[in-house]
Amino acid sequence: INYANAEFTQSAPSIRQCPPDTGAEVAFAGRSNAGKSSAINALTSNHKLARTSKTPGRTQLINFFQLTETQRLVDLPGYGYAKVPLKMKQEWERNLSEYLRERQCLKGMILLMDTRHPMQEFDTTMLNWAIGAEMPVHILLTKADKLKKGPAQATLLALRKQLKEAEVDDLVTVQLFSSLKKTGIDQLVKQLNLWLAL
Ligand code: GDP
Repeated sequence: INYANAEFTQSAPSIRQCPPDTGAEVAFAGRSNAGKSSAINALTSNHKLARTSKTPGRTQLINFFQLTETQRLVDLPGYGYAKVPLKMKQEWERNLSEYLRERQCLKGMILLMDTRHPMQEFDTTMLNWAIGAEMPVHILLTKADKLKKGPAQATLLALRKQLKEAEVDDLVTVQLFSSLKKTGIDQLVKQLNLWLAL
């Protein structure tokens, strides 16, 4: 798959307005500021794509990027905005868990977390939804360049240990990533190719 071919096709306010549930897609999720736009940019070498999802009014929508006729990337709204009214937040959470449970073509989720403070409350919630839906998750520990090699590696190993102890290491994998240094892109591509294979 050539990820540079990714093209914005549409935004959906809820799962009901998503494109038809056919082919294969992988969703990107993370707290706002986790580095999701930068990661999508680095993956696709396309700075216009992530800008699309930062367009005011589109930030709370599910954005679809077409790779081929049958394969898509999905950019889920950044969660963890303190400013969002509770009612909207609850509605979004309902939508998202429904999307994870019911979307047949969804093959996996890329969950982005800042290497310096992984597994915040929202990350755990998202992870638990995915595990409950038996949805595979690949965690990107982002901005790994902000830590020295030792501490970054220690964070990676600690999280892997935690996943193993929770007996979810068959469903949840994790890697270090830096959009700035362009590290971890090959590993991410490998995971996406596996999930998107038809
Ligand atoms: P989003 O809200 O999850 O889409 O996050 P962005 O991609 O907009 O990134 C949030 C901030 O983190 C921006 O200031 C980025 O420049 C910075 N950032 C993103 N990725 C990296 C990275 O790999 N390394 C460093 N040092 N900064 C990054």
